[in-house]
Amino acid sequence: MSEHPILRYVSAGAWALIEPLFSDRAKDLLIKLIDFMESDILPSEALFHSQISPDPKKRWESVPAVLGSLQKRAKELGLWNLWLSGGDFQGMAGGEGGGLSNLEYAVMAEIMGHSAILAPQATNCSAPDTGNMEVLARYGTQAQKDKYLTPLLNGEIRSSFSMTEYGVASSDATNLGNTTATLDPAKNSLSLSGHKWWITGAGDPRNIVHIVLAVTDPKNPSPHKRHSLVLVDPRAQGVKIIRPLTVFGYDDAPEGHCEVVYDNVKVDVDSGVVGGKAGLGRGFEIIQARLGPGRLHHCMRTIGIASRALDILLQRVSDPNRKTFGKYLKEHGTVVADIAHSRAEIDQARLLVLAAARRIDTEGAKGAMQDIGITKFTVPTMALKVVDRAMQVHGAEGVSADTPLPYFYASLRTLRYADGPDEVHIQQIGKKELKRVEDLKARTDKIRRDSERLLQANGLTRAKL
Ligand SMILES: Cc1cc2nc3c(=O)[nH]c(=O)nc-3n(C[C@H](O)[C@H](O)[C@H](O)COP(=O)(O)OP(=O)(O)OC[C@H]3O[C@@H](n4cnc5c(N)ncnc54)[C@H](O)[C@@H]3O)c2cc1C
Repeated sequence: MSEHPILRYVSAGAWALIEPLFSDRAKDLLIKLIDFMESDILPSEALFHSQISPDPKKRWESVPAVLGSLQKRAKELGLWNLWLSGGDFQGMAGGEGGGLSNLEYAVMAEIMGHSAILAPQATNCSAPDTGNMEVLARYGTQAQKDKYLTPLLNGEIRSSFSMTEYGVASSDATNLGNTTATLDPAKNSLSLSGHKWWITGAGDPRNIVHIVLAVTDPKNPSPHKRHSLVLVDPRAQGVKIIRPLTVFGYDDAPEGHCEVVYDNVKVDVDSGVVGGKAGLGRGFEIIQARLGPGRLHHCMRTIGIASRALDILLQRVSDPNRKTFGKYLKEHGTVVADIAHSRAEIDQARLLVLAAARRIDTEGAKGAMQDIGITKFTVPTMALKVVDRAMQVHGAEGVSADTPLPYFYASLRTLRYADGPDEVHIQQIGKKELKRVEDLKARTDKIRRDSERLLQANGLTRAKL
């Protein structure tokens, strides 16, 4: 039997560990996905970029046409909504596509990470839509599902998740208070005002819904019950997209990461609060559920970005036209060491991601929080190192737009903030580790006592050793 093409991407050791957990359908989908990446997605990247207008206004008005043909092809191949795991979402994707385990999807997402700009969009697996679909699927009313979830699943519209506030230290979500939605009980409606920024996807002409975190019950004694998620149509009166922000100069048009002001936007409670009236005050509960798998999806793709950077590095250092100090680049010891470290670090990080994905499958996102948190602050940093090495071997070209490396670097660097900065996850993991101390001390004390007994039984004391 011929070797599975995944072995061109994933170490044989990792595949041996996870292959028994892959269904035959997932293995077949993976073959199709790899072929789709190599035959359609990667060759289309240059065309995709060329179809984004350089005009500062026009670049926000349309979506590159090649994306439409790639989406059509992905649907035909059954490579649509792959992120929709089984369990809660069973059947939602309709036939081919969803229903994979998180572990199976982790490998698919890694492969998509080789073209993180195009593959997730082409297969309807991109953030922030995936997380938003999850919110609507789990917590939305039937009417909200019909209005937003179905077209999102079909790739007909886009959405934003609007949480980070201008001028507010937003990594501590209890600080979020500049966006309020005041209830008018007589009209059963909310008036929402606030100032957000870094809202991904808010520049996209297809976007018809922002899921906005807003204070609806400022006096609630629990800071975790003051907020709700409110569905806002960006075309509604009072919504102002102030500007697209840039990341090291990249604006990610036409999706963008935008500063947005909501000025007295009127929203009906039943149709506009996620979950209707019952959803009031549940904002924090819902964002927690949303962020778990979403954070891991980023890490899954990040492994693919790092792998592609290593592939680019390998080809550059093997260029027969480049010799320095009498040797080809690949013959210098530091270059060989960079290659080895990159290989080892990618393979280590993948195992963390796979373990987290498996834990979601077996214990749910809540049970996997520790594993997800560890991947969140280790995987992007690992990938940044690999990309940096790849840039370095390119000389000055490595920081130019003639390679995709600077874009990889910029997008990976943002992951150290997006969905919460590293330090917040590091703090949580560190605190959780410290909780082991009591048990650890008890076990260590027992080992010490047993050791003393053994020494005494043999006529020894510790002082004589
Ligand atoms: C490209 C991009 C896309 C984004 N997309 C979205 C989006 O779609 N929707 C959205 O709502 N937001 C989005 N964000 C915003 C992102 O989620 C926030 O930037 C992030 O949550 C941090 O909030 P902040 O910027 O207010 O940083 P602050 O809260 O001001 O924190 C600043 C720094 O303080 C330090 N810090 C914080 N807590 C601790 C701690 N416990 N210990 C030690 N140091 C600490 C960290 O170094 C942190 O980076 C995006 C950001 C980027 C860059």
